[in-house]
Amino acid sequence: MSDTSSSLHIFNSLSGKKEPFTPIEEKHVGMYVCGPTVYSNVHLGNCRTFISFDLIYRYLKHLDYSVRYVRNITDAGHLEHDADEGEDRISKKARLERIEPMEVVQRYTVDFHKTLVAFNTLPPNIEPTATGHIIEQIEIVKGILASGMAYEINGSVYFDVQKYNESNNYGILSGRKLEDMIHNTRSLSGQSDKRSPQDFALWKKAEPQHIMRWPSPWGDGFPGWHLECTAMSTKYLGEQFDIHGGGMDLKFPHHECEIAQAQAINQKSPVTTWMHANMLTLNGKKMAKSTGNNILPSELFAGTNPVLSKAFSPDVARFFMLQAHYRSVLDLSSDALEAAEKGYERLLHSIELLADLPKSKESSANINDHIQGYYAAMNDDFNSPVLIAQLFETVKLIHRVKQGEDTLTGTDIEKLSKAVNAFIFDVLGLTLTTKEQDNSYLDKALSVLIDLREQARTNKDFATADRIRDELLAKGIQLKDGKDGTTYSLSS
Ligand SMILES: [Zn+2]
Repeated sequence: MSDTSSSLHIFNSLSGKKEPFTPIEEKHVGMYVCGPTVYSNVHLGNCRTFISFDLIYRYLKHLDYSVRYVRNITDAGHLEHDADEGEDRISKKARLERIEPMEVVQRYTVDFHKTLVAFNTLPPNIEPTATGHIIEQIEIVKGILASGMAYEINGSVYFDVQKYNESNNYGILSGRKLEDMIHNTRSLSGQSDKRSPQDFALWKKAEPQHIMRWPSPWGDGFPGWHLECTAMSTKYLGEQFDIHGGGMDLKFPHHECEIAQAQAINQKSPVTTWMHANMLTLNGKKMAKSTGNNILPSELFAGTNPVLSKAFSPDVARFFMLQAHYRSVLDLSSDALEAAEKGYERLLHSIELLADLPKSKESSANINDHIQGYYAAMNDDFNSPVLIAQLFETVKLIHRVKQGEDTLTGTDIEKLSKAVNAFIFDVLGLTLTTKEQDNSYLDKALSVLIDLREQARTNKDFATADRIRDELLAKGIQLKDGKDGTTYSLSS
């Protein structure tokens, strides 16, 4: 890549501005994204968040950054209400269904992975769980207690927000002021041990009926929800790292509390760039299970939700989402999906044309303007709708060349083709399927490659044969030679 990465600008929720992106360590990016609480099927709004960060991850990789992408699984500690009250979401589901909490976790983790694979999102490099990091979380609680910014009471430990705010700014991310929060909150219920309603749980005492519990210096209990992300991001990305992301709804209190926890133990701000992805609405209204204005990915793919006129492929849904900027609210409707499907098919059709365009001696159009347009869009805070608009400008050029109204040299066609393919497949993460995932084309394409490799071996051209095998392997396709010939398997 040329100097394209040097001009990447990212909107930082912490400063409220677009800033030039400079990683702490050159060419390396540490990125942490808050993952799902696995107590129910992942809904489409959550998928949009993870697709947004997949776009970001893919583009950083395209710019040749070496990225460590950590996305957690919350499998304990997330209570029904944000104010540290109510039952643990996973325990509650387990109780209602009379199964083990870990069965709940397993079921919905599998659903989450399956759905994100359908949307062609790349897996994170590390996917740690809250229950796998209880020891680390206890250590952080000890550290915050030692700093004097937490207090223990009746087997629970709470973060002392007012104490913290004396020397720090609680509200630095959300823009809220502690005085306003104190003014606007109702008084504590008689059952709470907190000194102040703004304080949040670092460790909660487990009542006798609470199934998910661990021993600690303060008795049997479980970690507060905000703690796991501080423990896991610090463990895998260090005390300071580049990007922390999540849905807009996590900005407060979750991310505000993460900053406070990390600041209390390390005396430094944990994250350089905070990024927040906006939500998906359905027919103009917030999606909510309770009102029925809700849609599951499986219903979208099968066309079984009454709000949809038909089924839509994961690829079309992904394309639809990427037509909006990740910081804008996006409204989903059947009409909008149908429009996206038409646009998507037009785009794919043009790629097919691009491969067979007539080659001329001279180019009448400047393809560098097109390619620079793709980079300019993505360097401007990952502006995928502008990128897609630029790609449609290229679609127009492709049609003009096809009809002889413009000309391109063979070299330009090749260069354009390479860039268009990189942006559509590697960066936007689209695949070629508009219908159900269809492996028959992959089978056909690979049988051609397997035959070519066989032929090369017969001709003792082992360099070519090995190259085919190695390059496929690098793309996640492993060839296996057996008695009955060569077969392949996909590593993902
Ligand atoms: Zn989190």
